[in-house]
Amino acid sequence: VGTALAAARDALHERDGARFDAQLLLGTILGRNSAWLLAHENETLGDAVARRFALALARRAAGEPVAYILGETGFYGRRFEVTAAVLVPRPESELLVTLAVAALRERGDPEVRLYDVGTGSGILAVTLAAELRHATLVASDVSPAALVCAKRNARLHAVDGRVHFVLGDLLDAVAAEERFACIVANLPYVRTRDLQPFPDPTAFEPRLALDGGPDGLGPYRRLLARARTALEPAGSLLMEAGPDSAHELAEISRRAFGDGATVSVERDYAALERVVRVRAPGERHDR
Ligand code: GLN
Repeated sequence: VGTALAAARDALHERDGARFDAQLLLGTILGRNSAWLLAHENETLGDAVARRFALALARRAAGEPVAYILGETGFYGRRFEVTAAVLVPRPESELLVTLAVAALRERGDPEVRLYDVGTGSGILAVTLAAELRHATLVASDVSPAALVCAKRNARLHAVDGRVHFVLGDLLDAVAAEERFACIVANLPYVRTRDLQPFPDPTAFEPRLALDGGPDGLGPYRRLLARARTALEPAGSLLMEAGPDSAHELAEISRRAFGDGATVSVERDYAALERVVRVRAPGERHDR
């Protein structure tokens, strides 16, 4: 174990996180955590394990994200399946969950309906369903392969009865009269010219999930043309954004929602401006 990990760090060229990646890959193959690895440096690896580890390292050395190699990753304290058809879940997206849960607990409605636009792996919809036991959700994506992954994650966390997945662009699947207490969105927001070539890990991700057009705000502009009428009075729209375009997104949101809406920019745990929060005007109806 010790020799394999040392060789792995060399194979990964001491890149940032090489040590952690090597431990995560070997640990997952062995079904052990990093503490076990440290305590068992003298343990001998079987041939099959050594071969699987070598293959995983070769993929990582070529730039592929660890989550794709392992087929899973963690988000908001849960495990999620991840395929190459979806974006690798990022820790900063947990902020969307935190803000959505806070907004809905504040409303205090016994039952709420939420919408996750561009659900990808389903991490937002599934996490929100798991955190808010009385919520029902609709989650959409334009990618059939992403929806396959999202549905598997909903089953994995036993929330498939409360999350309805639909194939479609943005809010197209929503009937004109439908209203949601909260809409969450992690749409593609990378400027086309900022997309990175191989071997950058993001080059392995679906371009469809990253490319936000020339200024990175194309998909959000289209969403904002429609979002106001899909929200309940005092409902919340939470959008993950690039730190360099969050303010512009906030401006576009103010124009789209008009007077009475509250728009703010929230920072993630790296203190980067990451989420634009819109609270629609109006009082919520008493039930
Ligand atoms: N945070 C991702 C990145 O910078 C982008 C995610 C997205 O476009 N929604 O690679």
